[in-house]
Amino acid sequence: MSSDVCKHCTSAACLDVCPTGSLFRTEFDTVVVQEDICNGCGYCVSACPYGVIDRREVDGRAWKCTLCYDRIGDGLEPACAKACPTDSIQFGDLDELRERAQRRVEDLQDAGVSSARLYGEDPEDGVGGAGAFFLLLDEPEVYGLPPDPVVTTRDLPSMWRHAGSAAVVLLAGGLAAFAGRRS
Ligand code: SF4
Ligand code: SF4
Repeated sequence: MSSDVCKHCTSAACLDVCPTGSLFRTEFDTVVVQEDICNGCGYCVSACPYGVIDRREVDGRAWKCTLCYDRIGDGLEPACAKACPTDSIQFGDLDELRERAQRRVEDLQDAGVSSARLYGEDPEDGVGGAGAFFLLLDEPEVYGLPPDPVVTTRDLPSMWRHAGSAAVVLLAGGLAAFAGRRS
């Protein structure tokens, strides 16, 4: 089994596109959706590089894993980590988890599992590192994960700059044509 939770990206495109503030970053650096103020626009659904947020059919509002925001606010671990009898899902300080996971990968590789690797733990990756990362035993695609995820809003600033330049050029062209007709 694999847990397809929200990755709680450091650079979260869903946050960038949400027009209502329904999605927000918490004091725990997680990303939470507030279904009660979601307008159902669906922008976040197409912005998420992992496909982990979706709209509920019955009312169109967006839902996803919140890493049990209510529980961690009460000092508890998320329900999935609490319920897992084998500790396959672990919760804790991100840096400490990275170190623990790296040791586990090394143990597996020493035991001959050469394909063992971490996914989403690297702060230098395309989403600035994930808050929920994974130890995989095969290529990410085998688990339905994108091999090289990037924050989908990464190119928006340059796109707006180019659009702005094009608008200025068009305006300049329009003024030149107008001036030409007047002369
Ligand atoms: S995995 Fe998707 S829904 Fe979760 S924080 Fe990243 S972009 Fe947002
Ligand atoms: S569907 Fe809801 S949570 Fe998603 S971008 Fe629109 S308002 Fe925000």
